[in-house]
Amino acid sequence: MNELQQKIYDRFARYVAVDTTSDSNSQTVPTTSTQLDFGKMLAQEMKDLGVSNVEIDKNGFVLGEIPANVSGAPAIGFLAHMDTVEDFCGKNIRPVIHSNYQGGDLVINEEKKMYLSTQNAPDLLKCLGHDIVTSDGNTLLGGDDKIGIAIIMTLAEYLLAHKEIKHGAVKISFTIDEENGIGVGYFDLKRFNADFAYTIDGSVLGDIDCGNFNADKLLISITGKNCHPGAAKNFMANPVRIAADIVSSWPEDKLPETTEGEEGFILFKDIEGGLDHATLGGIIRHHDSAAFEQFKKDLEQIVEEKRVKYPNAKIHLEITPQYRNMREVLKAKPEAMHVLEQALKEEKIDYRLTQARGGTDGARLSLSGLPTPNIFASYENPHGPYEWLSLQWSEKIFHLLVRMLEIAAGK
Ligand SMILES: [Zn+2]
Repeated sequence: MNELQQKIYDRFARYVAVDTTSDSNSQTVPTTSTQLDFGKMLAQEMKDLGVSNVEIDKNGFVLGEIPANVSGAPAIGFLAHMDTVEDFCGKNIRPVIHSNYQGGDLVINEEKKMYLSTQNAPDLLKCLGHDIVTSDGNTLLGGDDKIGIAIIMTLAEYLLAHKEIKHGAVKISFTIDEENGIGVGYFDLKRFNADFAYTIDGSVLGDIDCGNFNADKLLISITGKNCHPGAAKNFMANPVRIAADIVSSWPEDKLPETTEGEEGFILFKDIEGGLDHATLGGIIRHHDSAAFEQFKKDLEQIVEEKRVKYPNAKIHLEITPQYRNMREVLKAKPEAMHVLEQALKEEKIDYRLTQARGGTDGARLSLSGLPTPNIFASYENPHGPYEWLSLQWSEKIFHLLVRMLEIAAGK
């Protein structure tokens, strides 16, 4: 491990020692107070490094800035999130370094027979000779997204020590509650004041998310006609059966379990109720906005057919907007992608522009006016005990960010 990788790793190990699991059922902002504790630690570290205007805002976002040392360059933002996902244990994380990976299976936990193999970690093969970091198998690793924080913090330290690197204003934020999608709604874009930004929260080397789903929520409520089943002929309307009928009328090739890449889906998530009334909830997802609208028309059509088929029932469909694809925003304001792609080419990183099958904080920020593609953060298999990352990749991201700043400053 070289000095820079060691620096990034040391920070990472300190950061994952703090449990910052978020909680989608909490009503507070942030959803867990541990995120505030972690934010205080990061803010202090930024002050110690000499970062300007360090502040924790009223919602718990950590903000700071490295002033421009050239004029006329755009202000660029870098963001990474402080929380870890609630789906798997994020407490007592003990990272393990596997130095100089030489191929083959990598042992995460011998006792539990947990291994990283080319089956569950296909990109591991690209990491021969790398220093790989995993958890001890009892927790997630927290690479998502504390390696992003470690890289940005190390970048801040480097820029402040190397004034010969010319750059515009660098705006830094460590954000709350990304995993549950709640935090970004509280982000103060005006205060952040960047021309464009990047989240360092993507997956393996080369993965750039510059698009995402269009997303709506659906809720179908069905009011039936209940009576004694022995005397129900030509009278009863059973909401349970109608809900099941609607679910099975949706095409099987447009479901999460049958689609990938840029294919959309409807996921029916929950059915609740009985003979009097039932509700059916779900989500609608598609990258392409025309196809997205068509999905909603198709669903309305199915519901209309069921109204005809079950005249004794009342069926109501409600669709609520969630978020939209940032692809159009990044096209309309292309500088963020130009700078990124130019730097990727100069740093000789093979990259793929992908459409995320989910939302990202960057998508919400882009749609609010701050173009924010998502850059790989060097981890794979997030949200579980098989999460791993490469420190050599982390270093590559560091150099990429430096190069992006220089390119944006015209150097
Ligand atoms: Zn993340």
